[in-house]
Amino acid sequence: MNSDQWDQAIEWERAHLWHPYSSMIDPQPALPVVAAEGVRLRLADGRELIDGMASWWCAIHGYNHPRLNQALQGQLGRMAHVMFGGLTHEPAIELARRLVALTPEPLEKVFFSDSGSVAVEVAIKMALQYWQARGEKGKARLLALRGGYHGDTFGAMSVCDPVTGMHHLFGEVLPQQLFAERPACRFGQTWDPTDIQPFAVLMERHHQELAAVILEPIVQGAGGMYFYHPEYLREVRALCDRFGVLLIIDEIATGFGRSGRLFACEYADVTADILCLGKALTGGYLTLAATLTTRQVAETISRGGAGCFMHGPTFMANPLACSVALASLDLLLEGQWQARVLRIEQQLRRELAPAEALESVAEIRVLGAIGVIEMRRPVDLQQITPALVDAGVWLRPFGRLVYMMPPYVISAADLSFLSAATLKVITTLR
Ligand SMILES: *Cc1c(COP(=O)(O)O)cnc(C)c1O
Repeated sequence: MNSDQWDQAIEWERAHLWHPYSSMIDPQPALPVVAAEGVRLRLADGRELIDGMASWWCAIHGYNHPRLNQALQGQLGRMAHVMFGGLTHEPAIELARRLVALTPEPLEKVFFSDSGSVAVEVAIKMALQYWQARGEKGKARLLALRGGYHGDTFGAMSVCDPVTGMHHLFGEVLPQQLFAERPACRFGQTWDPTDIQPFAVLMERHHQELAAVILEPIVQGAGGMYFYHPEYLREVRALCDRFGVLLIIDEIATGFGRSGRLFACEYADVTADILCLGKALTGGYLTLAATLTTRQVAETISRGGAGCFMHGPTFMANPLACSVALASLDLLLEGQWQARVLRIEQQLRRELAPAEALESVAEIRVLGAIGVIEMRRPVDLQQITPALVDAGVWLRPFGRLVYMMPPYVISAADLSFLSAATLKVITTLR
């Protein structure tokens, strides 16, 4: 398309095409991207932006990666898709085998689905069917953390932060879950044993009606980009065991190295009864998620009244998505992901630190390949987005948070460019 055609296309799509969380009345125009390579997005007008978002945690190896392309092309020549009911294929088997091997010990049963939100729905249904099968019908609620985010479908929404998580809009139909205060003790601080008290009290009071606890391990993502103390997670695990409540760990954002560990739950050396994976699973190429559970949970569900687990997406275990996920795992594990993420962490700490002196900045936080600048006031996307683009970078702030989680392959020079551009822009915000 030439630039006139692009102008027309953008005008048309503003009238007809929804974007995430967007209005259909005079929405901000979206930027047309015509290609992406490594850590660079190429816009229709020829400008290039350094990508600080990895397309929302996903594109850990960067864009247009030859190995990932090759995996997809190879699978495309065999079959793009085949139903998973009654049929199976090598990419699904191999990927499940890899996930079982990579994830903490007792997780060994794998359910593939299409997106993170669905993986969370699946996890919740597993927990509910588990207690039904055990004849404990009263155990049907979930306990989640304030500040959490688990997706946009109904079950997932019900366990998102009740204030930022759309409960005011859909409260009438959402299942009523329980919420514990966000952990107060941060990652890297000295552990304060009183921090777990509010959670422990809720568990003590409500365990008879609780099917599961669900949380994001160590890093709360879209609910506030907040890093909490691993001891909190360890205590949650212990309380779940003590009171007979399943633990669902949502590693959809944190999985595959982002936090500095392959899975963030490794910081606390705990494991889940049910684990959700997504986002970076395919290296940012296709939508795919997985919910893993233990033999004990899976077999209990299977012995229940239904005689099976009641879920089955049309595009379950899509072969293209599984193939590219396998190639992405190969790249991750044979590469120096841990050294790269550590290097990004150290560099972000150094390069974002000067922003702490700004009057407009409340706090800087860095963990793994995640850098967060929390402002004192909400940022205006209409103002900051063009400024960031003019400075040559792509970020998508929300609320008071200007944050980055670049592809792991970003070079030191590109990361410096990204940090410097971001600091320059926030300095000029009024
Ligand atoms: C993004 C996200 C989800 C939802 O995943 P989708 O693929 O957007 O449905 C769930 N949990 C966490 C922690 C996430 O970051």
